[in-house]
Amino acid sequence: MIPKMNFHTHTTFCDGKNTAEEMVLAALEKGFAALGFSGHSYTYFDESYCMSKDGVKAYQKEIERLKEVYAGKIALYCGVEQDFYSEEPVSGFEYAIGSVHYIKKNGKLLAVDEAAEIMEKDIQEQFGGDPYAYAKVYFETVAEVLKKNKADIIGHFDLLTKFNEKNLFFDTKDRRYCAYAISAIEALIAYDRPFEINTGAIYRGLRSEAYPSVEFLKEINKRGGKIILSSDSHDCISLGYRFEKVARVALEIGFSSTLIWTPQGFEEVELKERNSLF
Ligand SMILES: [Zn+2]
Ligand SMILES: [Zn+2]
Repeated sequence: MIPKMNFHTHTTFCDGKNTAEEMVLAALEKGFAALGFSGHSYTYFDESYCMSKDGVKAYQKEIERLKEVYAGKIALYCGVEQDFYSEEPVSGFEYAIGSVHYIKKNGKLLAVDEAAEIMEKDIQEQFGGDPYAYAKVYFETVAEVLKKNKADIIGHFDLLTKFNEKNLFFDTKDRRYCAYAISAIEALIAYDRPFEINTGAIYRGLRSEAYPSVEFLKEINKRGGKIILSSDSHDCISLGYRFEKVARVALEIGFSSTLIWTPQGFEEVELKERNSLF
């Protein structure tokens, strides 16, 4: 059975479109048993999408309030999506998703997922037009994300493909590209933390498959890696988006379970096609 839960949820405390309470109500309507919030950690170099310094406290307070209001109806968790370059502590949250939204080159922090034009410009100006050099730095950063962030979950492993549908910038079958990604998978597997299967970019109409790609999910599975389903929701409608589809893909690849977050930490839930209600 596919668990009716999501642990990657944004709200109006960061760049989400709905309030935390609206997200809880939407989750209840969908029959969710749990909802984990993961506000974007504060990044001093880009305040456009993240929680503000003071906003973090208000966010934590609001999730605590909602926990009381909806006790017995839904399990709520106060997590954080910790950016690699965020300098804020992850303590004070129940779990952290470790994500790389920026790479560093020539002393500059470059946004990976902001716009195709930005990626194009950065590849040209900072990497001499070589998209594989860009991918190398990206995956080298991802490889370090758990060490740096003390995170529990690996966020959108190959986020750099957000604007790469139809191989617009680079060929995802290229030997160099695959080698950089597999090195990162091997470095991260050692931590025994789940990779999220993130449907956020499918919902936005940017990608046809989840992060990570099927190819990389196979590599993760081959090495005994674990997964957790995530819709990286920025609005109510997207909660649990395409979980049925990605769970089927995961089953076909060979994953027999997915992780869920509980008050005691991770728990394994068997993946079965029947009873999938998403
Ligand atoms: Zn993210
Ligand atoms: Zn997110």
